[in-house]
Amino acid sequence: GPTLRLVLGDQLDPQHPWYREPRPDVVYLLLEMRQETDYVVHHAQKVIAIFAAMRDFARQLKAAGHRVRHVAIDDASNRQSLTANLDALIAHYGASAFEWQLPDEWRLDAQLSDWAARQAIACRAVDSCHFYTARGDAAELFAGRKQWLLEHCYRQLRRRHGVLLDADGNPEGGQWNFDADNRQPWPGNPPEPVDSRPRHDHSALWRQIEAAGVVTMGESQAAEFRWPLNRAEALQQLDGFIEHALPHFGAYQDALSGKSWRLFHSLLSFALNVKMLNPREVVQRAEQAYRQGRAPLAAVEGFIRQILGWREYVRGVYWARMPGYTESNALGHDRPLPHWFWTGDTGMACLSAAIGTSLRQAYAHHIQRLMVIGNFALLAGLDPQQLHRWYLGIYIDAFEWVEAPNTLGMSQFADGGLLATKPYVSSAAYLDRMGDHCKGCRYDRKAKTGERACPFNALYWDFFERQSERLRGKHRLAMVYKNLDKMTPAARAALREQAAATLARIETL
Ligand code: FAD
Repeated sequence: GPTLRLVLGDQLDPQHPWYREPRPDVVYLLLEMRQETDYVVHHAQKVIAIFAAMRDFARQLKAAGHRVRHVAIDDASNRQSLTANLDALIAHYGASAFEWQLPDEWRLDAQLSDWAARQAIACRAVDSCHFYTARGDAAELFAGRKQWLLEHCYRQLRRRHGVLLDADGNPEGGQWNFDADNRQPWPGNPPEPVDSRPRHDHSALWRQIEAAGVVTMGESQAAEFRWPLNRAEALQQLDGFIEHALPHFGAYQDALSGKSWRLFHSLLSFALNVKMLNPREVVQRAEQAYRQGRAPLAAVEGFIRQILGWREYVRGVYWARMPGYTESNALGHDRPLPHWFWTGDTGMACLSAAIGTSLRQAYAHHIQRLMVIGNFALLAGLDPQQLHRWYLGIYIDAFEWVEAPNTLGMSQFADGGLLATKPYVSSAAYLDRMGDHCKGCRYDRKAKTGERACPFNALYWDFFERQSERLRGKHRLAMVYKNLDKMTPAARAALREQAAATLARIETL
């Protein structure tokens, strides 16, 4: 019988060595399943984007002469679970071997390897040939260290892969890091870049998903769908980013604005995470733009740091810490998420914009995820596991290997500070400096107490006071605790009361 090869929904890389030439003895399997739509509640656009891209991938493989079995979500033969479908398909084809690409999520990795160990036919996993690093690299690099610093991993990868180095092998421009140049608010100029994503009408697919009973959140935007379907579209989007947005990426990387939901971010995370694009080509294109004088070094370095640095690094953390990492809750937080996480209906302008964009676009940029939504969640002591499931569901690019270290580690400090040297939190002053939301907000960014005080202010001080035992000793927090200690007991008590009152009415903030 033939060899069956499984292609997961985030393994849509037409350049994988599997597809070099069609083989009559190989059948590729693409399976749309409730198992994958239901492990958390996903954004409608995420389900549409992945299914549409899988269908397009199946079409492309067939057109190239490969044998393909695509099982649609409403196919009568669909058993809706991965292992039940594999059992049925192996019997159906009388398959003599089964192969899969190493999944990026622990959940699927465990399911497939457990299942494979019980099969009588030959089973074999191959690499997905996507990342710069192997699963175990970070664990090896950081063996014995208490803190896992991005910088360490990033510099090593720059050197190893010869990225942004000068003729002597030193970092281009004499520095590894240009973050200091990259912290400007956006004044509305230069104008927001053009959105170079495609447009598709996925109404029929969306009806099929709904009819199958899949529960989702957010707006489907099915009739005017903007996420890429395949590699060709993703490459066009990359071109548009390099030309229009990359030159300004660095300067406004940390900015927030009510006038632009994407600012100068690339919107490439979906294409990267489902492997339509390879990180090497994205990094090379950015470096080339610098070499050709089309983008400044600080912008290009800042962008490459995200992909060659953060993206590889969080993956390493994930594999070193799974299973178990998704349960981490070092600060003992347990407050349920307020209902407005699913509606955006809050008077806090920055949060309303960040959550509103998430629901409309299945996307929010990094600073919205980290310094608005994550910041509030951490200050308010929201349950990190509930929050993790929310992030894992709502974003178009959310897959656990990248979402969990970002949410639980970087954003919520739930791993006790493995990734982050200090909690990423701020009061209203930072949000006001980096963005323009405070101006039109119901709350007063300057007030710490009283009805109209911005909730971030009292919650900020209350957080550090509440977590004093765990956080006081941290070197990078010395200033915070010095300022807290300088306050009078009455001032501290007023902040405590304000924070308690704020949390008591969290549903109506
Ligand atoms: P750009 O700003 O244009 O950056 C370029 C690329 O760099 C991104 O496409 C992405 O591949 C990579 N990148 C940037 N920052 C990170 C990071 N911190 N970790 C890993 N890769 C990074 N990213 C995801 O891909 N999936 C997630 O589920 C996810 N969840 C997050 C949750 C929280 C709480 C936070 C704070 C961040 C999360 N991120 C996640 C990281 C980052 O916010 C997104 O990668 C980014 O916003 C995607 O938009 P973009 O493509 O426009 O990114």
